[in-house]
Amino acid sequence: MSDRRGLLIILSSPSGAGKSTLAKRLREWDPTIRFSVSATTRAPRTGEVNGEDYHFLTEEQFKADVANGDMLEHAHVFGNFYGSPKGPVKASIDAGRDVLFDIDWQGAQQIRNSDLGRHTLSIFLLPPSITELRRRLESRGQDSAETISKRMQKSWDEISHWDGYDYVLINEDLHDTEKRLKSIVTAARLSRNQQPGLNDHVRKLQAEFEEGNA
Ligand code: GDP
Ligand code: ADP
Repeated sequence: MSDRRGLLIILSSPSGAGKSTLAKRLREWDPTIRFSVSATTRAPRTGEVNGEDYHFLTEEQFKADVANGDMLEHAHVFGNFYGSPKGPVKASIDAGRDVLFDIDWQGAQQIRNSDLGRHTLSIFLLPPSITELRRRLESRGQDSAETISKRMQKSWDEISHWDGYDYVLINEDLHDTEKRLKSIVTAARLSRNQQPGLNDHVRKLQAEFEEGNA
């Protein structure tokens, strides 16, 4: 077990605001960040890889995992089940690695209220406008018109929980949002309780001071 407990970095937003894009950029920036690969009962999109983007499960498999207590949190979103498998998260944070979650507000709330709640850093992404949100969902080119319409109808449900998060970013210019997101993570890692080595360092300074080196 590492001295440092990893952070649980939670990204939420309405569908299409840019979570997956920014999560990918954050992981490219710091490959030590572990991505929490969620389990879902939704069908894979073109290009999505089982075990990398999601663990694609049947409803029976998903429910069995929940019943066995294997999910850190889970929720029903847009007619499908989604959940974060507990095992890989515990292993990563115990090893001092930060874990990144792309989950909805219900999952964020469950993690915040869990015994790992103290270690969370939560960030909510807002779109610049609802019109732009629709444009992004359409331009992603992955969902049917019906799915897009369902997600747009649900966007307010998600947006209305923006005020439960530690940080909020309006994702207008992608490059700018990426920079601000990295700053947030950098700052969180520098918070006092994320640096267990500080006690030793300060003791060393004290010893030096007391030896008359001031
Ligand atoms: P997208 O957000 O439009 O790319 O669509 P997805 O089907 O990938 O995700 C739909 C919603 O489910 C998004 O709000 C995700 O953040 C959320 N989600 C994904 N995985 C999880 C999870 O493990 N738990 C919870 N609670 N929500 C999740
Ligand atoms: P989410 O994971 O929140 O559903 P995505 O990351 O899939 O959203 O982004 C939806 C679409 O919007 C993608 O095509 C992505 O390339 C695009 N996108 C994300 N952020 C921006 C931005 N700041 N400006 C323009 N397009 C963006």
